[in-house]
Amino acid sequence: MHMSRYIPDAIKRKLLEETQFRCAFCLDSIEHIFDDSNFFHFAENAHIQPHNESLDNSFENLICLCPTCHKKFDKNPDRDNSVSRLKALKAHWFVASGNYSKLELDCLFDLFRYNPRPWILTYQFQNSERGKFSSLCFSVPTKQGYLFQNLITNRLVDCVEQKGAFSGNSLTFGSNLPAENTLLILLTEKGKNFCKKFVS
Ligand SMILES: [Zn+2]
Repeated sequence: MHMSRYIPDAIKRKLLEETQFRCAFCLDSIEHIFDDSNFFHFAENAHIQPHNESLDNSFENLICLCPTCHKKFDKNPDRDNSVSRLKALKAHWFVASGNYSKLELDCLFDLFRYNPRPWILTYQFQNSERGKFSSLCFSVPTKQGYLFQNLITNRLVDCVEQKGAFSGNSLTFGSNLPAENTLLILLTEKGKNFCKKFVS
């Protein structure tokens, strides 16, 4: 093993894929800006076991973080705590990226962070038990539900089928609308707990 901090491109790419182009901790998307002459990306490859101790640049000892989170972990005076948190994050991402598509994770984390993707129609779902608008959901045509099948099967989200299609941001019914049912997809407690493993 050599002293260099050199990380091969193939490993850098694999690290970005592992977290679906997000910071492993805060879940922010990693920004990419391309302006003809410059390509910036703000993904940082953080060492789980610090490089100066381990000299380990393997995929297994690296994780993708944004610069802000990277600093937080590096500056944590409790080194063991940092190492064990990063190890746990690596394990969570192994499960997440092994079981869910990028689309599923993007939508799941957006629900968790109340930051819906603009191309998915969203509205405040009325929780009938509590009688108030309490959780955010998004909707997709029922026939596209298979795209979220792994989230549904593992109960990270619940879905409710509605007759009718979305128009604007409300569910409308009527014979003039396409005969297409809508699936409302909501985050479950299990889904929330899944997401919390990353950010807490
Ligand atoms: Zn971050």
